[in-house]
Amino acid sequence: MRLILLGAPGAGKGTVAKLLTQVDGSVQISTGDILRGAVQAGTELGKQADAYMKAGDLVPDSLIMGIMETRLQEPDCAQGFLLDGFPRTIPQAEALKTLLGKLSIKLDVVANIDVPREEILNRLTTRRTCANTACQAIYNVRSQPPKVEGICDKCGSPVVQRADETEEAISKRLDIYNEKTAPLVDFYRAEGLLLTINSPSSEGVVNAIRERIAG
Ligand code: ADP
Ligand code: ZN
Repeated sequence: MRLILLGAPGAGKGTVAKLLTQVDGSVQISTGDILRGAVQAGTELGKQADAYMKAGDLVPDSLIMGIMETRLQEPDCAQGFLLDGFPRTIPQAEALKTLLGKLSIKLDVVANIDVPREEILNRLTTRRTCANTACQAIYNVRSQPPKVEGICDKCGSPVVQRADETEEAISKRLDIYNEKTAPLVDFYRAEGLLLTINSPSSEGVVNAIRERIAG
């Protein structure tokens, strides 16, 4: 399947993407994971992205499009891909449309995961992430804690609160989402690709997407 996952930070895009990779071997492409990996590895890309990310700002479109143009042409994408955290601005969506046209790739659906703001705030302040960039497993101190406090079940690395998940950075990211990313809902509605999903659980979201693609 070839799809875009839209939704505010904390809507569950990453969790849904991970579940969908198990359905048909489509790869998850998370620009956030790629950027955090680059920051930790200290690459040129990481150096350029670091300050924006810490402040909860968006990384410039040109950097993101550079990443995606390369990534979408890697062989594992032939099976399908789940875009998680991209596109995030109208210019990114326009550039993606051009890029996919050039590569003769058609999207199946753009899934808009719609979660109330209160629930989003709740989830983000309690979210914890594995510090190992090769793993980046996601936990929640209330609803899904690691078996041993502070230690990743999957790889044994520390489980930490992300630098951009302080209350201040979270509220800024939500404002940026409403201003820059929410307009993509209308963009993809006009393209005839939009599927809005209100299910409170990630499994519910996955099922709605599978039904749409099968139907
Ligand atoms: P979340 O979805 O939880 O907000 P992500 O892991 O998707 O977080 O992204 C973390 C940060 O990485 C963003 O706040 C932003 O600084 C940067 N980023 C990720 N994807 C993009 C993108 N498509 N365009 C611009 N910046 C991005
Ligand atoms: Zn881990």
